[in-house]
Amino acid sequence: MDLSKLKRRGLMFVLSSPSGAGKTTITRALMENNPDLTASISATTRTQRGGELNGKHYYFVDIPAFTKMIDNGELLEYAKVFDNYYGTPRGPVEEALSAGQDVVFDIDWQGTQQLEEIARDDLVTIFILPPSHAELEKRLRKRAIDTHETEMQIRSRMEKASSEMSHYSEYDYVIINKDIESSIAKAQTILDAERMKRKRLTGTSEFVRGLMGGL
Ligand code: 5GP
Repeated sequence: MDLSKLKRRGLMFVLSSPSGAGKTTITRALMENNPDLTASISATTRTQRGGELNGKHYYFVDIPAFTKMIDNGELLEYAKVFDNYYGTPRGPVEEALSAGQDVVFDIDWQGTQQLEEIARDDLVTIFILPPSHAELEKRLRKRAIDTHETEMQIRSRMEKASSEMSHYSEYDYVIINKDIESSIAKAQTILDAERMKRKRLTGTSEFVRGLMGGL
């Protein structure tokens, strides 16, 4: 039998965390180490930050354009996070999945719940936690220097981090990000194992029949 006939359904790899837990670094490393992974690029109504590119990090749209996307059924899920709207465009995800490609999502718990409702079998969800409260505060304060945030904004991020973290138990896997290299390796292990799940493989029974017949 032709081994290329052994195909697999693409999986949806969701990473969520409070800001400051290291999710972006882990996602970037996964993308670098797995050229066959596709990142879902969200649409958002928040303003573009320095260094962010439209169409690479996000599709930056205004509220009427976002509302139109909702009305036209163009979003797989959407949510209001930190006073702005964020949503996952449906088309690119469906195209990648049907081509057997895996897609990585950096979305919050609200979006994850919506994907659970429509695609539970294709979904693998990971929640990333910081190693301690003190470390989370340290990371948020360090980031605040780069983004010129005020003390009030830092406090608000800490509060939002707490409410985001309360949803960790809705996820399949939890990674406590103490050491970034080891967390990247853990995320890769989960991806590798999930890719081998029998239920995602198609064409296996024909392959095994061929093996048995050859004995
Ligand atoms: P930021 O504005 O810092 O880039 O993202 C803020 C939060 O919005 C992050 O927790 C991120 O995971 C979440 N987010 C980004 N894109 C989406 C999306 O398409 N859907 C949902 N539900 N959340 C998103």
